[in-house]
Amino acid sequence: MVDIKSLDLNEITDLLTLNGFEKYRAKQVLTWLNAGVVSFDDMKNIPKTLKEFLKSNTYLACAKIERKLVSKLDATVKYLFKMYDGEYVESVVMEYHHGSTICISTQVGCKMGCDFCATGKSGFSRNLTASEMIAQIQSAQMDLNKRISNVVLMGMGEPFDNYENVIKFLQLVSSENSLNIGMRHITISTCGIVPKIYDFADLKTQCNLSVSLHAVNDKKRSEIMPINRKYNLDKLIKACRYYTQKTNRRITFEYAMIHGVNDTEADAENLAKLLSNILCHVNLIPVNTVTGSSYQKSKNKSLEAFLNILSKHGVNSTIRRTLGSDINASCGQLKRSMNC
Ligand code: SAH
Ligand code: SF4
Repeated sequence: MVDIKSLDLNEITDLLTLNGFEKYRAKQVLTWLNAGVVSFDDMKNIPKTLKEFLKSNTYLACAKIERKLVSKLDATVKYLFKMYDGEYVESVVMEYHHGSTICISTQVGCKMGCDFCATGKSGFSRNLTASEMIAQIQSAQMDLNKRISNVVLMGMGEPFDNYENVIKFLQLVSSENSLNIGMRHITISTCGIVPKIYDFADLKTQCNLSVSLHAVNDKKRSEIMPINRKYNLDKLIKACRYYTQKTNRRITFEYAMIHGVNDTEADAENLAKLLSNILCHVNLIPVNTVTGSSYQKSKNKSLEAFLNILSKHGVNSTIRRTLGSDINASCGQLKRSMNC
């Protein structure tokens, strides 16, 4: 069976014309796919023969809303989606002055095992296809009845551990025949799979890159992020430098502030040193408390002292606003709390 939502206009045209259907039907089918139909029977202007062909040879990847939580504080919406095989993933929609941003999942679970992360603690089931990433956006758009303008790949999963599907997703989502969300409005976040940072740099897309750093020396980073045992800080920072030089785009470094673990003034000094001469921005995020982990948020005064040291050294940095704190908006927590 062909995953039709993973095909672009040319590929749908080939599929239909090779099977005796008119070329113009491809665009009609794609329009319905973009509208987020969940059944071929809902494709109104498509003849019965074509519907039957599609039903017998292709399938519609879907993300069915299983649960929806709406924050009373800031209108952040969190979805638990059920996929075709009964697996669950999460997405979160946040409102900013520049529009709606969706944080989507790229895998069911994650293999990387970061110690502070709810997804990392739940193990790994499978990769999501490009169409399943698209389906999360379509389902949220249909439910909220509005256009989503920005996408961040910061939900469940490690995007660069599912590289081919993620690249296919970027091509599809930014195509004017699909959701038409420009690359500049998309951000990929990685825990630091170094070879893929080089590959991604060589693609020279306009897409934004975030790197989850969270510690400034190998001992600490390896303790909280096992990926550091394979690709240490030296290798990671070299790859990041390559990325900024190759693309001329700045990297955002994510740094989860964990009380007593990585939030001292010495850590801030070392972070500034590590990132000197690199085109970047640092996002300080008070860590979210996760069941089964003893990590606590840094105190406000540590956050401020940290920020001041970074700015004293000329490192561009901000403290990330927490959205949806009443609905545990960071990904992996809803699925984990429901044991699914
Ligand atoms: N796997 C990718 C993207 C998904 S995680 C990555 O690790 O970058 C998205 C972001 O959430 C990462 O920056 C990750 O480090 C962060 N994160 C995970 N658990 C968190 C928690 N409990 N508190 C704060 N940030 C967390
Ligand atoms: Fe995976 Fe990212 Fe969570 Fe680490 S932080 S376990 S890489 S989802």
